[in-house]
Amino acid sequence: MGKTIAKLAVIGSTGSIGQQVLDVVRDFPEKFRIIGLAGGNNTSLLSTQINQFQPKLVYSPNKLDFQDNIKFQPMEEMACHPEVDIVVIATSGKIGLAPTLAAIRAGKRIALANKEVLVMAGEIVTKEAKLMQAQILPIDSEHSAIYQCLQGENGNVARLILTASGGPFYKYPPLKLAEVTVNKALEHPTWKMGKKVTIDSATLMNKGLEAIEASWLFSIPLNKIEIVIHPQSIIHSLVEFADGSLKAQLSVPDMRFPIQYALSYPERLTNNRLPRVNLAQLNSLTFETINHVMFPCLRLALDAGKQGGTYPAVLCAADEIAVQLFLEQRIAFPKIAEIIDKTINLHQSVDNPNLEEILAADEWARNIALKSVTRTNL
Ligand code: MG
Repeated sequence: MGKTIAKLAVIGSTGSIGQQVLDVVRDFPEKFRIIGLAGGNNTSLLSTQINQFQPKLVYSPNKLDFQDNIKFQPMEEMACHPEVDIVVIATSGKIGLAPTLAAIRAGKRIALANKEVLVMAGEIVTKEAKLMQAQILPIDSEHSAIYQCLQGENGNVARLILTASGGPFYKYPPLKLAEVTVNKALEHPTWKMGKKVTIDSATLMNKGLEAIEASWLFSIPLNKIEIVIHPQSIIHSLVEFADGSLKAQLSVPDMRFPIQYALSYPERLTNNRLPRVNLAQLNSLTFETINHVMFPCLRLALDAGKQGGTYPAVLCAADEIAVQLFLEQRIAFPKIAEIIDKTINLHQSVDNPNLEEILAADEWARNIALKSVTRTNL
């Protein structure tokens, strides 16, 4: 990257990751410039961001007034705009898929925070990225950790070990899970994240999606990816090599670390605003095996990933609906897994699906997931 300024389009700038991306950009005005901002429904925050960063291109799902020198641009066109060097995909859900593919086809660097893109369409996305030599730099902390551990290595990976904090209910008595409130589920012990990802962390669905994501990003079969509970969230993941050596990446749990790495790679930037690990204060780092019975969503995700086809797309879609229903207080916490399980059981998967077939499976699963709850609740 050297002395030139990297020009960024941030898709999902008003979400939790998007805001933290802008924090990093603010810390390095000589390194990064915002060319495009695509926001969500928080229009007032998007207006503030536009005033502050003066992008050339803006997308908003709502009506928004801005100066004449700023152009309204759909997300897919923003992602492949000739002036953009790095496209940050900071949205969650399938909305990230089209702009990611547009960026790949234009050969951009993609800083990817969205999980569903690789879970739903991992084969298509990784194939096209290879063909177009588009770099995908992961922003998810686990994948960033693995990416960093793999630097300077040439293969010979025995397994990947993803760490999981366990979320807020890891030590809960299983029968109490039915009484879990939305507020309780949104209290994540170590990470500050958006609502969807926080609920996915509480069910451990998040970790299942991350395993599938890692499998595509690093071309490692799912049976060589392990998950271990690490409640302190200091070790973000590990790689075990053929000789039995392990490499790990550590930092304070703060998304600005993987964000900054994805933007500046291969350079590392000095950022005094980021908190440092004090090893003596940490006292101890602990690890435990996962209780699969308590977290059925993890098993559902890993099974869908192993079965492949359109199952992972159905998993994502059913999860998105189920989490939304839980956030709206229409279903109890354990119902999230039940809805996903029912939907997957009814699905007839397509092998080696193309994009249309993936999107059709997504659409189908959303309907089925919604119907399954209206049937049981009425
Ligand atoms: Mg993560």
